[in-house]
Amino acid sequence: MARTGSKSLQAKLVLLGDMGAGKTSLVLRFVKGQFSEYQESTIGAAFFTQVLSLNEATVKFDIWDTAGQERYHSLAPMYYRGAAAAIVVYDITSKDSFVRAKKWVQEVQRQANPSLTMFLVANKVDLESKREVGNEEGEQYAKENGLSFLETSAKTAHNVNELFFEIAKRLARAN
Ligand code: GDP
Ligand code: MG
Repeated sequence: MARTGSKSLQAKLVLLGDMGAGKTSLVLRFVKGQFSEYQESTIGAAFFTQVLSLNEATVKFDIWDTAGQERYHSLAPMYYRGAAAAIVVYDITSKDSFVRAKKWVQEVQRQANPSLTMFLVANKVDLESKREVGNEEGEQYAKENGLSFLETSAKTAHNVNELFFEIAKRLARAN
């Protein structure tokens, strides 16, 4: 977290979670307002910047998305070192992705900055008929572990801007 002037913050934001959970799609929805059914997991920039203007501050996000490294469950700690915020994503149609999201949460809580703002995000809520992870399950886990929780859809844009604005607001309040 660096101060770049009065009420102007710069913050590293990292995305974690299983491959296919929708990390890149959430970032592209937020940064470009786009969605693709055929999002390629390993191509495309893995680094984005986006500025959010709030009443109280301007927050410049440096967003780190993985370029497929999560496949090996071995993201280097440098990936989240110095991060002010982390978004751990799972896919509501995949129980496995929820199990692995919990592992990411534990790893980040072990290694990262204790003041880090973490969101647990249940993505693909447009696929309600294929749901394998209940809303309460995610919410309950988040609550027990001191995380914020949101259900999103990168496809319909449900809660995507809300997610990033909520993170920006937290950071502005804390800094
Ligand atoms: P990543 O590996 O976590 O970066 O996941 P991607 O963003 O590459 O998404 C994996 C696949 O899920 C792609 O085919 C996306 O189009 C699809 N996808 C991502 N988000 C959503 C969503 O909210 N709803 C639906 N229906 N599909 C999604
Ligand atoms: Mg990706």
